Amino acid sequence: NELLGLLGAWLRGEQYHGQHHLRGASSSLRPVGEGLADLIGNTPLIQLASLSEQTGCQILAKAEFLNPGGSVKDRVALEIIQEALAEGRLRPGGLVTEGTVGSTGVSLAMCAAAFGCHAFIAMPDDAAIEKAQMLQALGAEVQRLRPVSISHPDHFVNVARRRAAEQPNAVFADQFETVANFRAHLKTGQEIWEQTGGHVDAFVSGAGTGGTIAGVGCYLKQRRPAVRVFLIDPPGSGLYNKVTRGVMYTREEAEGKRLKHPFDTITEGIGINRLTANFARAQVDGAFKGTDREAVEMAAYLLRNEGLFVGSSAAMNCVGAVKAARALGPGHTIVTVLCDGGHRHMSKFHSPAYLAEYGLTPAATGRGLEFVA
Ligand code: PMP
Repeated sequence: NELLGLLGAWLRGEQYHGQHHLRGASSSLRPVGEGLADLIGNTPLIQLASLSEQTGCQILAKAEFLNPGGSVKDRVALEIIQEALAEGRLRPGGLVTEGTVGSTGVSLAMCAAAFGCHAFIAMPDDAAIEKAQMLQALGAEVQRLRPVSISHPDHFVNVARRRAAEQPNAVFADQFETVANFRAHLKTGQEIWEQTGGHVDAFVSGAGTGGTIAGVGCYLKQRRPAVRVFLIDPPGSGLYNKVTRGVMYTREEAEGKRLKHPFDTITEGIGINRLTANFARAQVDGAFKGTDREAVEMAAYLLRNEGLFVGSSAAMNCVGAVKAARALGPGHTIVTVLCDGGHRHMSKFHSPAYLAEYGLTPAATGRGLEFVA
């Protein structure tokens, strides 16, 4: 009946006033776009009402899970491929290679296909099998390799780099080092600036390659130098030390010093123990440490209070936003990024059995933020 009412009103040329009319949608609909590339970026910026209410700050989040590949990495993949095409390093029919366990592979496979190219993704064989299957379904060639140190020629990153060097019309995406990653996120920063009308006091993000925190942070600071940029760093990552004390241990050093293992967190996509070119571009004012428990509780909190089902790095970013709100005090506008949705995390971060195994079952008590230290 609702549908018939809508259709009848539409046929009579009347405005429909039923309960479910699309509030505000007509004003923000975009004109006809040009395929996949036009679906990437320009994501909504949403207010997280409950976090804002609880902290007294306005907490805003960029809904990157709405990109067609499901994550913020679509922006980077598109920029890398468009740059390579523009510079003539890649032509239709060519190959884009990357060594990755994360979302970048999915984004590269989709964007490569959109430009008549294809992707080769090398990954360690202990990564979830669904990841390899998904990449294959997206048309990528996948090679799974025994995990070895980054200094070993058979490390998946080195295999991907070599593969691109071995054949013509092939490029190594190199997301950790390439400036195209940084440039893609200058655009993210510009979107945030425009969406907030320049009313932004702080940006908070975790870092994997560092592209997001560097690109967004640099854009915002260039527009308004007083904007503060904060890192939220998961357990085992060396970036917190890098920002706060100027030192970073390599993985070998970390193990030698019996510091935490670099991969002892369930947050995926953030945390690293080497200084990448993209993180080196970042202007970071301060850093917070986040725990797995805080991330798990935040994901449950966001679902309960906002109806948002997010991945682990997005949850950790929101933990960072709360910490930044407390550090700055009420009245500030703080922006962060919802990197991806929860769907890609069903076997770990959103698996009750997996969480129980690690003693991380969310307590789900009340509506407060007492779980954020
Ligand atoms: N979250 C997810 C899900 C990611 O895949 C990545 C990229 N590794 C990040 C966060 C971190 O973003 P960046 O590489 O820009 O630091």
